[in-house]
Amino acid sequence: MEKVIITVATTGAWPQKEHNPNIPLTPQEIAADVYECWKEGAAIAHLHMRDDQGKGTMSKDKFRETVQLIRSKCDIIINCTTSGDLNATDETRMAHLIELQPEMASYDCGSMNWMHNSLFLNTPQFLEKLGKTMLDNNVKPEIEIFDAGMIYNSFYYVKKGILRTPAHYQFVLGADGGSAATVENLVYLKGLIPKDATWSALGIGKGHIPLMYAAIALGGHIRVGMEDNVYYAKNRLAKSNAEFVARAARLIKEANKEVASPAEARDILNLKK
Ligand code: ZN
Repeated sequence: MEKVIITVATTGAWPQKEHNPNIPLTPQEIAADVYECWKEGAAIAHLHMRDDQGKGTMSKDKFRETVQLIRSKCDIIINCTTSGDLNATDETRMAHLIELQPEMASYDCGSMNWMHNSLFLNTPQFLEKLGKTMLDNNVKPEIEIFDAGMIYNSFYYVKKGILRTPAHYQFVLGADGGSAATVENLVYLKGLIPKDATWSALGIGKGHIPLMYAAIALGGHIRVGMEDNVYYAKNRLAKSNAEFVARAARLIKEANKEVASPAEARDILNLKK
């Protein structure tokens, strides 16, 4: 049976406890939360760190502590952000990859206006350095796509040998400044990536459920969690990230597919052994 990988993005860089008191922010909270999500079927944990004030940070110490706690509890695939703080230097955005060698990390394949208030910069120079750092440290890029131009940009780095194929894409739809979270957009974007690529999708806001159904139907993988949505349903805050994972797992099974284990996800994504 076809396997579907669930990624959980527990924290992100933005939501605070005032938006949802159940969001995990400290290394201990994140690790405990990831473990609950793994029990419900998540195969990949996409990690962001927060400083002691709860702000997004690329602190290597926070990543190290969190990753060690998670690795001591379960075999979930670690996927670290490289964009957890818009003010971080290029070097700080990559330092944790060199030290911790997570199996995956995000590769945001272009720049954009972010949430009508800032710039999300991924310069050509940074994307080259980041790609090479990932190759050197055997970290599989999760190529995050906010609009079609970023897909074409990824082809350039494939041609230069900076991104390997088959590539893995994550369609991030519904962020202000990027493409809206609609099924039509997902179908269009999915049609642009190479046939041998693997892909996953997430929707921010009310598109998150339609996109989850569409990704399952189209043969993709799915991402859920409070980085993308603090609401589980209209006017109902999520009680936990595990609740999102459990719903995703139910939908996958109802669609006559199976939830991929971490080991199966490693095979599907061709991660280092
Ligand atoms: Zn992220």
